Amino acid sequence: MSYILEAKNITRTFKEGRIETRVLRGVDLSLPEGQLTAVVGKSGSGKSTLLHILGTLDTPTSGELIFKGENIARLSERKKAALRGQHLGFVYQFHHLLMDFTALENTAMPLLIAGVSRAEAFERARDYLAKVGLADKADSRPGELSGGQRQRVAIARALCPQPDLILADEPTGNLDEENAAQVFALFEELVRTEQRSVVMVTHDLSLAGRCDHIYTLENGRGSFTC
Ligand code: ADP
Ligand code: MG
Repeated sequence: MSYILEAKNITRTFKEGRIETRVLRGVDLSLPEGQLTAVVGKSGSGKSTLLHILGTLDTPTSGELIFKGENIARLSERKKAALRGQHLGFVYQFHHLLMDFTALENTAMPLLIAGVSRAEAFERARDYLAKVGLADKADSRPGELSGGQRQRVAIARALCPQPDLILADEPTGNLDEENAAQVFALFEELVRTEQRSVVMVTHDLSLAGRCDHIYTLENGRGSFTC
């Protein structure tokens, strides 16, 4: 099996004054390419901490992170930002859309920031809005959309730059069952039809059960349970 990202012996300790919290105590996690991996664990077990480290948004206290043969754990902030822009897409529990911009503008934003021409950025954004089933909402602002629709715009925005790896932190956590199922189906489809790699934190065990792999975090360490 080939891996899109390999985390080796990752530790993360938070220090607040004299108090040290050892959240990750030696995590090994290899993410298979073109597959959907769920990360599960109790609240406070370190799922978000791990996801931030996998996405280079946080630096591990120790350990390695191998992406395309290179250890990226200790790159400069500038190089990490470039790597994220080129290769990684993020989706969070809260959509983080810009409320004054339309669904289309929100979706196109990462491309515009990356310097893609307006014409091309909007064309690609339209394609991705259609893929998430929101072609008819391109001109709506987030305030005019339902929670599930907003989350689908957030997914379109993450996908638009065509990242190799999508990292999602409880992307269905704020949604009712029906919307959660729709959003999950979208991730499934992406993995199957576009061979994207997805790592998704979830506490919904029925959704986790539909992923290709389940990685469970407990007491600062983790293991694949399937
Ligand atoms: P989960 O996502 O599994 O609920 P988190 O990764 O958010 O867990 O948090 C794991 C633990 O790390 C918690 O005890 C939390 O309080 C602590 N923690 C997370 N981020 C920080 C931080 N920036 N500073 C101090 N402690 C933190
Ligand atoms: Mg969390």
